[in-house]
Amino acid sequence: MPGVAAIETAPEPMIAMRDVCKWYGTYQVLTEISLTVRPGEKIVLCGPSGSGKSTLIRCINALEAYQRGEVVVAGTRLNDAAGSVDAVRREVGMVFQQFNLFPHMTVLENCMLAPMRSRGVPRVKAEETARRLLDRVRIGNQAEKYPAQLSGGQQQRVAIARALCMEPKVMLFDEPTSALDPEMVKEVLDTMIGLATDGMTMICVTHEMGFARQVADRVIFMADGRIVEEAEPESFFRNPQHDRTRKFLGEIL
Ligand code: ADP
Ligand code: MG
Repeated sequence: MPGVAAIETAPEPMIAMRDVCKWYGTYQVLTEISLTVRPGEKIVLCGPSGSGKSTLIRCINALEAYQRGEVVVAGTRLNDAAGSVDAVRREVGMVFQQFNLFPHMTVLENCMLAPMRSRGVPRVKAEETARRLLDRVRIGNQAEKYPAQLSGGQQQRVAIARALCMEPKVMLFDEPTSALDPEMVKEVLDTMIGLATDGMTMICVTHEMGFARQVADRVIFMADGRIVEEAEPESFFRNPQHDRTRKFLGEIL
């Protein structure tokens, strides 16, 4: 059917934020945030401390409520139906600056817990998946250890594996290397680059601009709760359009 085959439709966006506004009391932390992320796209989100980056990505998996606008993740609109929060969180994995591993559980148990508890995955299957993903972040040989026995970089890789065990469609990273000693940053970035290469849809809040250049399809710069500028890395770094962006890049590069 040539007529049908000829019609090209853009894929549904993986994430669509439209005019999202959020206040803490009278303080407006997000102003008219609109952002569309297509399947497989990698976004780097940067901006000064306090500009609302964490709040923005936390709105995507309903860790924060917002007062205006809408967020749609993998076809599910947050807020409009009972169960929408659970439906969205099922698709979204998140990695934080602080690794947030459970200290009293082994690496393997940390990775098996959520799939067993909230997905009802049988133990044998959860362990198989966990071991496979721990191998993928090159830490399979540490599976029986406790988090405190690992370096910061290793713990963060476990946190990434743990998020992947839920088989998310989207991964959100909130300054995943900011709490690490410098010598451990690369191993975590390399893990993220691997994920990106495998086609994961990602939003990464990071000031690692080398990573942004290498991986990002788009770099988004926020200030004072607004998206000020977004561009492909090449033009973002070479030819920033706004004074705020230039000032920011001057400070971090
Ligand atoms: P970023 O991640 O860019 O550093 P955040 O999203 O953490 O910024 O914070 C944006 C602004 O919102 C900051 O001014 C911060 O102080 C404020 N803020 C964050 N969380 C809260 C909260 N729970 N209550 C009140 N204000 C908050
Ligand atoms: Mg933050």
